[in-house]
Amino acid sequence: MADDEKPMAAVIDFATAGVRAKDGPPLTTTYSLGCRHKHSVIDKRARSVECRDCEASLDPIEVLWYLANHYARYHYALDQAIREVRKMEARLKELKREERNTKARIARAKRKEH
Ligand SMILES: [Zn+2]
Repeated sequence: MADDEKPMAAVIDFATAGVRAKDGPPLTTTYSLGCRHKHSVIDKRARSVECRDCEASLDPIEVLWYLANHYARYHYALDQAIREVRKMEARLKELKREERNTKARIARAKRKEH
């Protein structure tokens, strides 16, 4: 299989991956290892998208789909976190009220002792 026929889904750069030849300069050869194309670069002029890590040309619709799903999951998680924070704030307010009441009861009990 020629290099340009290899699936781009699996190309890494040895130099950026920190792989070096023994007693030599960093290797610059690319080799298939399974890039998941998590970082994309948009070329607005060429109206194309490529993987920042392996430079594979990506389907813009697939990237848009991934980003839309990622964005939806992010917002769901953010909503959940906000709800949890509000619950914790309400609980903290309740605990502070209980603390004030307990301190007042202790102070009354001490006054009765004297
Ligand atoms: Zn990639």
